[in-house]
Order: sequence, then structure tokens, then C-alpha cells
Amino acid sequence: MTELVRNYIGGQWVVAASGTTANNINPATGQVIGQVVVSGAAEVQAAVEAAWAALPSWRALPGPKRGEILFRAAALLRDRAEELARVLTTEEGKALADARGEVTRAGNCLEFFAGEGRRMFGQTIPSELAHNVIYTQRVPVGVVGIITPWNFPLAIPVWKAAAALVCGNTVVFKPASLTPLCAQRLTEILIEAGLPRGVWNVVFGPGATVGDALTTHPRVAALSFTGSNEVGQRLYALGAQHRKKVQCEMGGKNALIVLEDADLDLAAAATVQGAFHSTGQRCTATSRAVVVRSVARAFTDKVLAYTHALRVGNGLEEGVQVGPLVDEKQLGSVLSYIEIGKREARLLCGGERLGGPLASGYFVAPTVFGDARPEHRICQEEIFGPVLSIIEVADFDEAIEVTNGVRYGLTSSIYTSDVSRVFRYIDRVETGILHINSPTVGGEAQVPFGGMKDTGIGGREQGTAALDFFTEWKSIYIDYTGAKRTATFY
Ligand code: NAD
Repeated sequence: MTELVRNYIGGQWVVAASGTTANNINPATGQVIGQVVVSGAAEVQAAVEAAWAALPSWRALPGPKRGEILFRAAALLRDRAEELARVLTTEEGKALADARGEVTRAGNCLEFFAGEGRRMFGQTIPSELAHNVIYTQRVPVGVVGIITPWNFPLAIPVWKAAAALVCGNTVVFKPASLTPLCAQRLTEILIEAGLPRGVWNVVFGPGATVGDALTTHPRVAALSFTGSNEVGQRLYALGAQHRKKVQCEMGGKNALIVLEDADLDLAAAATVQGAFHSTGQRCTATSRAVVVRSVARAFTDKVLAYTHALRVGNGLEEGVQVGPLVDEKQLGSVLSYIEIGKREARLLCGGERLGGPLASGYFVAPTVFGDARPEHRICQEEIFGPVLSIIEVADFDEAIEVTNGVRYGLTSSIYTSDVSRVFRYIDRVETGILHINSPTVGGEAQVPFGGMKDTGIGGREQGTAALDFFTEWKSIYIDYTGAKRTATFY
């Protein structure tokens, strides 16, 4: 693989006017595996024009027909699943098993939204007036911008794209520059599935130029963003100034609660999976274990045993469970949080960059801190790497308080066998996704996905909830009385 990945605009693969390219690097080896074009505002302009031109005929196509194209895309994606998983691992780094899981999730999203093409229901609503009918209908919002991160370079673009497309919108997609091959392969699949020219356009380039041009373009009606809070909050404000509909899914600081009646072995295994698989580079990663003091020692011992048993290495090797961080910048950021953690809490394992045969990649040993306190920076800020903090609490009430005591609200989990505390947790925890006796990670295509508080704004993704972002409602009043309205109706 040493391909130049180009933009896809108006049905053509095209290079950027700048003539500049950036390297695509395998984070497990540090090797350059290809290049990607670096675009600017001119390419965004061309892509938006193409999407605008394609909009009337795409939105006029019946929903079930749009769905048929997505069903074909799902089948093509599943045919190419192993190739896609390998490409994903090669440029993003996650272990093959995780990459295969991501490809499956992408296929599920395509199938789910393909089916929505036959539903897309409105409502019939009773009128106050005799011989009057009222109904509602969903219509597409128009040209939609999609901006995505590198950590799920296939699933996140797919879950946004499938929802946007089935609703009748046309798309300009700005993928993360670190993972261009996944965006390219997805585009190939959508083309082969039969998407008409101009319906799907891809522009690679720096977030600041391409993202801003997309967010402020007068012909872009809506922007769906997933990424950091720093960028998302800025885009949300910018979008508001330009009267765009904006949806942002951002950071997480997810907690897994362990009560004294938990199955400690299950809880420890789930914690290690949530903290270290995908190298902790998941918005849903478990970064805090909040454990009732009476079982903290036994739980920590089990966590350390599972952590020591993890196989870290090049994700392309079968059996490897933890790959590298995605790039040098992320490596530096995670290592600096580890140094902060060493000052704040007690290092129980890991805490260093891995050398030897892994020295040319961006590998960090899975790291566990004990004696962590809720106010510590490692317990408040998103680290986005293989770092877990264990926080001891007195009881259930304190566990809920600690879990909620962060700015984020994406996902959480509780391990207990007490059904009444399960329901009290459901009532009180401030996260958009809740897991009972299962890890903080994972989700299904037909279920709303997203967070509360600083994690998410602008509506949920996936499930039928996603249709609310990608459509507008029309409310239609039909009067078949044939009579003039009286003044009593207002
Ligand atoms: P990022 O915010 O740096 O980048 C995300 C995307 O925005 C990329 O395509 C990037 O090029 C683009 N971008 C960067 N600067 C921009 C700007 N000024 N204007 C417009 N676009 C810009 O995030 P990242 O490092 O790629 O991803 C990691 C973050 O994503 C983490 O915070 C993680 O929690 C979050 N994330 C959240 C979810 C979720 O659903 N809540 C899912 C996955 C990742």
C-alpha cells in the first residue's frame, strides 16, 4: 500500500489545487504507507457545488430506492470485510479483532438505515376541525457536511453517511487526515453500490481550513461532527453564526462502578477490555474504575492480572489485543498524562513507552493508577490512551457522585447484583449510554448513541433518533370542507 489518496468530487477522483500531499503513516511501524492530498477552500467550494447540483434528483428518489443502494453498499462492505479491517489496522493501529468489529458495526449501520428508507414515518394528527386532515412528513435538510475523527475511521463516517443519505441529503465528507484509506475504501463501496454522481463528495485537508469552509458555506445546511471538545465547541458556535444545524459528539471520561456485591472477575475483565482494547482510543473507553473500598484490593489485583496478560504489538498480528497510539502527537499527549498521573496517584503498572521490537511504533504499556482521587487531572480530563485510574469510594451514593463529577456524560457502567441499586443508578447517572454488568464500550446500530453534558450537543446519532438531525418536518393541513374559515379558528 503506497497509494495517493485523492478527493472525490462530483463523481471524479481529483488531486488538490495546492499540489501538496501529507504522509499516511502506519503507527505500529512508523513507516510511510501512502500519501493523501491536502485541500483548501477551493476544493470545498467544488464539492459543495457538486452536492448542491445532485440534491434535487437524489431527494426526489423514493426512500426505498435510496435504501436499496445502501443495502448494496452493506453487502459490498461485508464482501470486503477482511480487506477493510486490515486497511483500518494498518493506518489506525487498533488490533485486527477490534478492526473486524468496527467493520461489522459499519455494515450493521448501513443495513439499519437502508431499512429506514422504507419507514421514515410521519404522523397523522387529529384536527380540531371536522373534515380536516393534518399530517407530517420528513424532508431532507439539503447539503450536509460530515467531519469525523481517526479513531473509528469507518464506523463513524458510515453511521453519519447512511443516515444522511437515506434521508435524501447529499454529502460533503471531510475525513480525518490520519486515516484516508478507510474513507477512500468507503467511497469506492458507495460508488459501486450505485450512488449517483455528486451525492457523495470527499475532501481531505486540515480541519481548520476545510472544516471552516464547510461550516460557513451558504449552501451547507447542516454539519455533523465527531471529535474533540476543543474543535466541536468552536464549530458549534461558528455554525450558529451561519444559521446551520450542527450536531457534535465529543469527548468522554467514562466510569465503571464496582459495588461490593459485584462479580469481581467479570467487572475486572470488562474494565481491562474497556480501558485497553482499541488502545483506549475510544470515546467510550473506561478511564475510571469507581470501586467500593471493601472490594477495591481484590478488584485491583484482578485488574492487574488481566492487564499483565494483554498482548501488545502490531495489530496485524493475530492474537495482539492492544496496538499503538495513532501518531506521535497522541503518544506525546498520553505520555504527558502518565507523568501527571505519577505525581497525582500511585502507578501500579505500565507507565512507559515500549521499546525493543516496538520502538519504531507509538506504543505505550497499558497503565493503571491506584489511589486516584476524583479531582485529579487524570480522573477529570480525557486522556484517550491506555490509561486507567482506580478510584475508591465508600458506597453506592459516593460512586454515583464521582461518576457524575466530570464535565462529560457519554457512557457508564455498573457491576452489581442488586436490582434496586441498578434502577437507582439508571435514575441518577448523567450519561447518554448506560451499561449494567457489561463494559462501557460497544453499541448497536439501531440504538441512539451520544452523550449528555459537554459530550454531546445537537441530537443523537444512530437509531431512528438520527433521522431527527438529518431531516426537517413539514406539517401539512388539508381542509376538505369547501367552507370559509370562521374567526374562532386561529
Ligand atoms: P479532532 O477534534 O482533533 O478532529 C476531529 C475532526 O475534526 C478531524 O477530521 C479533524 O481534521 C477536524 N478538525 C480539526 N480541527 C478542526 C477545525 N478547526 N475546524 C474543523 N474541523 C477540524 O479529534 P480527533 O483527535 O480526531 O478525535 C479524538 C476525539 O474524538 C476525542 O475527544 C474523542 O472522545 C472524540 N470522539 C467522540 C466520539 C463520540 O461519539 N462522542 C466518538 C469518537 C471520538
